[in-house]
Amino acid sequence: MKVDLKHFKDLELWRSNTATAFKIDNKPTRKELNKLRFTASKTIELVREIVGCAVVVTSGKRCKELNRKIGGSSTSSHVRCEAFDFMVPGFSPSMLKSLFKQLSTSLEYDQLIFEHHNGAYWIHISWKEEDNRQQALTYEGGRYENFEN
Ligand SMILES: [Zn+2]
Repeated sequence: MKVDLKHFKDLELWRSNTATAFKIDNKPTRKELNKLRFTASKTIELVREIVGCAVVVTSGKRCKELNRKIGGSSTSSHVRCEAFDFMVPGFSPSMLKSLFKQLSTSLEYDQLIFEHHNGAYWIHISWKEEDNRQQALTYEGGRYENFEN
């Protein structure tokens, strides 16, 4: 299961400001890296093709320690290398929301979440080998809601 990505380097799939700041070793194992690449090929690579310009991963793989530090859910798909958070430089919140809407109807995913926290906006996308739920949600003001298209 060796996947070559057209638009993303391995480092982009796991580097983390928080891990760096707290000296947490978030480097993936060979197996995790293969899974990250595979997940990326089903998610952010497709997003990149749709958007047509740079897509920046703000959170990819999280080791357990990093996930705890960030306050992520203990069952986070980031820990399983099944999710990415990303933003698009130069996109306003409404442009990002439009993209989210487009992605929600054109991609396969487990969860697609439009997130807004502390003045920042990003999109979370997760993908599993099977039983993807096509669950589109918004996370604003600290709560999740179903996204009504
Ligand atoms: Zn996420």
